[in-house]
Amino acid sequence: MLSTTDGLVLRVMDREDNDKFLTVLTPDRGQISVIAKGARSVHSKLLPLVQPYTYANFEIYEKNGSLGWLRGGSVIEPFYGVRNDLDNLSLAAYLAEVGMDVTGEGEPGVEILRLLLNSLYALASGLRPAWQIKGTFELRVAGFSGFMPDLEGCAECGRTVSDPMYLDVMNGHLLCAECVRMAGRVRRTEMEMEDAGEMTLLLPMSSSVTAACRYVLSARTERMFAFSLEKSERDCFSAVCENYLLHHLERGFDSLNFYKSLSQTSVTAPNRKSKTEQN
Ligand SMILES: [Zn+2]
Repeated sequence: MLSTTDGLVLRVMDREDNDKFLTVLTPDRGQISVIAKGARSVHSKLLPLVQPYTYANFEIYEKNGSLGWLRGGSVIEPFYGVRNDLDNLSLAAYLAEVGMDVTGEGEPGVEILRLLLNSLYALASGLRPAWQIKGTFELRVAGFSGFMPDLEGCAECGRTVSDPMYLDVMNGHLLCAECVRMAGRVRRTEMEMEDAGEMTLLLPMSSSVTAACRYVLSARTERMFAFSLEKSERDCFSAVCENYLLHHLERGFDSLNFYKSLSQTSVTAPNRKSKTEQN
C-alpha cells in the first residue's frame, strides 16, 4: 500500500546495502520507521528527503506493520540554517532526541511535532537565541508529557509573588521564600539525597524567571518565544527548564552533553548519566 504523510526526520542511520534507516515523526501516527533504499548514494533521488531535521511529505510503501519503504516525496522545509552551524546542529540533535524519547509509534505526535518545527524554524532562521529555544522547548515538552508544573503560586500559602520563588522540581509546584524559610528547608540548587531514594530539589527563581516560565507554559506555540529576559537571568531560566525536564524524564542525553561541551552556556545541572552510558 502506498501512502503519503508529512513528517520530520528525527534520526537517520546508515544501513547495509547502501540504505538508510529513518525515524520520522508524523502528526497522526507518531514515529514511523522508514527504509530509504540506496539513499547512501550521492546519486539517489531520495537524498534531500533523508537529511536529519528535514520536514517533508513522504511517499511510503508499506507491506505490513510500522516499517515502510521510502518511494519519494517533496521537501517542505529543509531547515538549512540548522545544518550550517555546529552549535545549531548539536542543539537540533538534542531537540530531536528528546522528541524521540517522548513520542512513540502509533501515538499522535502533533503537539511535539509542532513544538519541534517551531523550535527548528527559530533556530534555523536565527530569529531567537539558543538559550531561549532550548529552555522553552524543554519546559513545554515536560508539560505535554504529563509533567505540567503548577506555577500559579506557592503550594503552601498561595502567594503568587516572592523573590525568589522556589520550584520544587519533583513535586512540580512552587514554594515561596517565606514557606521555605519557615519549614527550615535548606536552600540549595543541587540534588539533595534526604534518605535512600528520596530526592528534594528546590530551584530558586527570580520573579522575572518565574514570569517567563509561566508565559512559556501558557502561550500558544506560535507565540511561545515572545518573551525576553535580562542576560543575568538567562542561566537561571536554562537551569530550571533543563533540570525540570531531565528529572521527570529520569534520563540524560548524549546529544545534550555534546551540545554543552560546545556551548558556553553554563547550566547548573547535576551530572547525570545518559541511558546509553548506564547500559
Ligand atoms: Zn508560601
